[in-house]
Amino acid sequence: MRSMIIIIDGLGDRPVKELGNKTPLQKANTPNLDKMAENGINGIMDSIAPGIRPGSDTAHIAILGYDPYTVYTGRGPFEASGVGLDIKAGDVAFRCNFSTVDDNYIVTDRRAGRIKEDTTPLINELNKMKIEGYEDIEIIFKESTGHRAALILRGENLSDEITDADPKVVEKAPKTVHSTTNSPNAEKTADLLNKIIKESYTILRNHPINLNRIKNNEAPANIIIPRGVGLVPEIEELNKKYEIKSACIAETGLIIGIARFAGMDIIGVEGSTGSVDTNLDNFIDTIIDNVKNTDYDFFLINIKGADESGHDGNAKEKVEFIEKIDEVVFSKISQLQDMITVVTADHSTPITVKDHSADPVPILVYGKGVRVDDVKRFNEIDAVKGGLLRIKGSDLMNILMDLIDNTHKFGA
Ligand code: ZN
Ligand code: ZN
Repeated sequence: MRSMIIIIDGLGDRPVKELGNKTPLQKANTPNLDKMAENGINGIMDSIAPGIRPGSDTAHIAILGYDPYTVYTGRGPFEASGVGLDIKAGDVAFRCNFSTVDDNYIVTDRRAGRIKEDTTPLINELNKMKIEGYEDIEIIFKESTGHRAALILRGENLSDEITDADPKVVEKAPKTVHSTTNSPNAEKTADLLNKIIKESYTILRNHPINLNRIKNNEAPANIIIPRGVGLVPEIEELNKKYEIKSACIAETGLIIGIARFAGMDIIGVEGSTGSVDTNLDNFIDTIIDNVKNTDYDFFLINIKGADESGHDGNAKEKVEFIEKIDEVVFSKISQLQDMITVVTADHSTPITVKDHSADPVPILVYGKGVRVDDVKRFNEIDAVKGGLLRIKGSDLMNILMDLIDNTHKFGA
């Protein structure tokens, strides 16, 4: 038996007036998901705990069986991991923007004119950076898409107890980074980061790419502004923790970063956009291909689009995307043999809230040997009557591993 968790990001919702006071999932025509609900066991899930409004990152950390309160130290480590940096416990990691400052060192564009060019040559220059007095610290930058990048600091006695450099608005200088404690390590890290930001401007301001951008009336990417600091924690690899071979198929760098950090293999999907226009045909083909031709016994899958519709408050788009996933993805998922499949969400993103809420999400578990309850439709309301009742995200891996007979007995 093998297993998969399919996260429909932001799927959960609240009643929407324009949908006749139904949730988008209630409203959507989902014959395949309903068939799985009818032949499976259902319930609702609080990915972290009742009343806790999760981010996608903290929710996924919990669903993989880790404690987000110890593992999640900030967004930086997962962004850095997501762009392909091999982060190590003890590294201090940041997400960064290429931004634009004027000659008075005032930020005029936080995203450097949403630079589209490949920023690799800029990153290559930044990676030559040496800061006097900090020769023992490795300073490692890596480009991401557009204006985004990541930074890790590696060395002894670093700390993540420091403030952000991002002024969040234009017409202000990058903020001076301060330590938030009296610890010498935090003082040291803050001082180093301030010097790195200044030095990035020295390195980037006259780079040929930027001189060219100025000539074309585009905002130069002449400074790097880090934020989202986090100290990379020590964690047990997922494969070890559950004695499995695992892979992740996801669309966003953040989720991929969490999976990489947990030591999972990453499988890419051609044409995936992380939005409602993503190529779902390629998505399901990739899943099926890997189920057939690899020996992974656990897959974590994240489809992003529904979350975006929720953030946009677009009920019609959310309903349509759910229907499309049902038709393209779950028509085939429901046919898989020797597979225990979990379908759920990481959190609710209600149309009326346009952000994540703590409303528990529906969950179904489908596959051979699973107890079947009386629930016949997959949605937030019917799921409550199911046999799983209400579980926490941190219970899910244990429940799933038990269903594929991959657990050790506790006691005699
Ligand atoms: Zn999410
Ligand atoms: Zn979201």
